[in-house]
Amino acid sequence: MAGAPGESTSVAAAQLPKIAWGKGLVLVDTDGRRYLDGSGGPAVYSLGHGNEEVNQAIKDQLDRIAHGYRYNFTSDPLEELTERIGRACGGTLERMVFVSGGSEAVESAMKLALQYFAARGEMSRRRFISRERSWHGNTLGALSLSGFRERRLSFEGALVDVPRLSPANVYRPPAGVAPEDVGAYCARELEDKILELGAATVAAFVFEPVVGAAGGVVPAPPGYARRVREICDRHGVLMIADEVMCGAGRCGTWRALEHDGVFPDIMTVAKGLAGGYLPLGAAIYSAAVAEPIHTVDGGPQTGHTFTGHTAACAAGVAVQRIVERDGLVQRVAVKGEAFRKTLGDALHGIDAVGDIRGRGFFIGIELVADRDSKEPFPAEKGLFLKIRSRAMENGLICYPSGGNVDGIRGDTVILAPPYIATDGELDEIAGRFAVSLRQALTDIGH
Ligand code: PMP
Repeated sequence: MAGAPGESTSVAAAQLPKIAWGKGLVLVDTDGRRYLDGSGGPAVYSLGHGNEEVNQAIKDQLDRIAHGYRYNFTSDPLEELTERIGRACGGTLERMVFVSGGSEAVESAMKLALQYFAARGEMSRRRFISRERSWHGNTLGALSLSGFRERRLSFEGALVDVPRLSPANVYRPPAGVAPEDVGAYCARELEDKILELGAATVAAFVFEPVVGAAGGVVPAPPGYARRVREICDRHGVLMIADEVMCGAGRCGTWRALEHDGVFPDIMTVAKGLAGGYLPLGAAIYSAAVAEPIHTVDGGPQTGHTFTGHTAACAAGVAVQRIVERDGLVQRVAVKGEAFRKTLGDALHGIDAVGDIRGRGFFIGIELVADRDSKEPFPAEKGLFLKIRSRAMENGLICYPSGGNVDGIRGDTVILAPPYIATDGELDEIAGRFAVSLRQALTDIGH
């Protein structure tokens, strides 16, 4: 039994069960207890567990070679994955750097932006702008972008100074802003900040099109991303979309920003890309960003030892082949609508449910002590931790996060089922979640 090191929002002392095996949405621990994976872990397991086709593809690759170092070789999996993702992204997002996860993808995106401007002789463009209530990863660069106070605390003073704007959160608009004005207001904040810093000093604006861990699934309001695109273009600032959690089909479109009809200059994906079968992330960039990087500088200076890892790319290819062949992105779009309704029905009458939101199989539930004032539960009640343990007891994996640590962060739960979840499994997730939530609310005396 062990705690969960590195998960600052969970109880370090928690006694966790030991995982034994998994198949589809079912996970089984070494004591034989079964759990239904209602959140794909942290929105990772797009194909569920134990997919034999993916396992076989990885084994076949390992039998040939595990890893050909990028300095010496390219590989079929690397090239096929580049082609597949380029096609899935559409437009000109055709260049990519494959890395070992989300934080590395974000670091790579930041460095691509800096290298792009360096190669163009614009060395003054060194700064990033991001948003509050955001999560971009645990490495120091990605953490510098992140508006997640409790995860930053121990590192303050060593992080890069990144101005952070209001999150485009319609449920919790900035003070004095009407919900319908949130998109325009938040976009204006971006333009004001660029002008304040001086456009010639700003490299990129980094944001999650649908906020994940730091907000409990918060899609920006319609029109926001378009406005951001226009502002970035007006000031020569690169737009970086962090789709590590919301991308790769999770929101019912391969790119989350597809929904808004907008292309970023650089985007990141990770979790669902190889579905957790092997560690894999990517920084994807447009032909226009690639041009100076490749022609002037001879390619991205973002490599790590395991960049473009052959077996990890083979896992990515296998997952993405299945996603495309079985029409899983479209399935997520259709079933996601139905799932949100099922969940709404299951949670009906629970007054602590302040908001149910999201897209596709990326659903957030925000819990409040008072629905009218949207007052969060006091942090010391530890509601999200109670939900987590009740859900585990009831055989459900979900992704609660929160505590009132940033004043407004509150308790949220993410449900992000694998794309293959059956109707029966989706009903079961909603049912077990409703039971667990009711029990947790009783536990905290609500
Ligand atoms: N960006 C976003 C939007 C994320 O949700 C995460 C992880 N939750 C990361 C970056 C960091 O990814 P990783 O944990 O794989 O390093």
